[in-house]
Amino acid sequence: MLQDKNPSKTDLSQLGEFGLIESLTKDIIINNASTLKGIGDDAAVLNFANQNTLISTDLLIEGIHFDLAYFPLKHLGYKSAIVNFSDIYAMNGKPTQLIVGLAVSNRFPLEALQEIYDGIKLACNIYKVDLIGGDTTSSRSGLILAPTVVGKVTPGKEVYRSGAQPGDLIVVTGDLGAAYMGLLVLQRENETFKANPQHQPDLTPYAYVVERQLKPEARKDIPPLLKKLNIQPGAMIDISDGLSSEIMHITRQSGVGAIIYANKIPIDPQTVLTAEEFNISELTAALNGGEDYELLFTIKQKDYDKIKHRKEFAVIGHITEEKGNYLITPANEKLQLKAQGWNALKT
Ligand SMILES: [Mg+2]
Repeated sequence: MLQDKNPSKTDLSQLGEFGLIESLTKDIIINNASTLKGIGDDAAVLNFANQNTLISTDLLIEGIHFDLAYFPLKHLGYKSAIVNFSDIYAMNGKPTQLIVGLAVSNRFPLEALQEIYDGIKLACNIYKVDLIGGDTTSSRSGLILAPTVVGKVTPGKEVYRSGAQPGDLIVVTGDLGAAYMGLLVLQRENETFKANPQHQPDLTPYAYVVERQLKPEARKDIPPLLKKLNIQPGAMIDISDGLSSEIMHITRQSGVGAIIYANKIPIDPQTVLTAEEFNISELTAALNGGEDYELLFTIKQKDYDKIKHRKEFAVIGHITEEKGNYLITPANEKLQLKAQGWNALKT
C-alpha cells in the first residue's frame, strides 16, 4: 500500500491560488509527444497526429464513492486516476493525458491536497500519463474529485460495447470480486474502530482484497497484448460495476444475449475465504461487487487458441443470438443475470 506522509498543517487560505498551484504541480513529468503544452497556460495543447482521440471522465464523490474514515487521501488520488485510465484501456486505447478537477472544503489543509496529488502523480508516472491541468476550488462540505482522461487509439482499432456477435467467446482478465470484499473488510474494521478506538485492526489476512479496493490497477498490459496476439475484440468494457451489469451493457448494445458459467469465473482464494467469513457467496461479489477494473471482452472462436494458455485471460461463456443474459450454476441451473451492480444513482 502507499505510505502517507505525516502531515503538518498549512491552511489553504494562507497560500493563495498561485502558491497552491505551484506546490501541487511543481514536479510534473511530461511523457507523451502528444502533449505540446501542459500546465501553465490557459489551456493545454495536444496533438495526436493520425491517432484517434479518446476522452472520458469519472467522478469520485465523498460519501458516495468513498469514505475518508478508511480511505487514505493518497490512495484516493491514485484510484481516481486509475479508474479513468481503465476506461481508455476498455476502448483498446492508451491514456496519455489527465486533467483533474478538485473541490475541497476548508477543513482540508494544503498537506491533504498534496497527499491526493501525490497519489495522482504516482499513477501518472507509473502509467506514463501527463498531468496537464485542472482546477482546485472550495466546496461547502465534501471532497469531490473530477478527473478527465485523454487517450489515443489507432483508427480502426477502437473497441465499442456494441460489437459482440453470436458465437463469440466472452473473456475476462484477472480475477473478480476482491475489491468488493476489501470494501466489506474496511467497513467492518471502521465500525469496530468507532465502537472501540483502541482497536488495532490486523488486515494481514485480507491484504489482497484490501489492496484491490484501496489501490486498484488498470489493465495497461492488455491492449498491447491483444495487439501482439493479433486479436481484435468484438466488444469490450471495463468492470467497474460488477460482471453482471457489464455483460448486460455489452449484450444490450450489441443486440445479443449471453451465457456465462459460474465455475469459469476467476476468483482469488482470498476472495473466497473472505466471502465465507462474511457469509456471502463469492459469486455475488464477482457478479455484483464491482470496482475490479478488469477488462471484459468478446473474441471470435477462431482466436481461442491464441489465448487459451495465457494466464491473463479466462473464457467464461459465449454470446447467443437469443436475447437474455444467463448464468449456469455449478449445479447446472440456468439463472437469469440481474444487474445489481452498485449504482450511485440508486443510493
Ligand atoms: Mg467503463
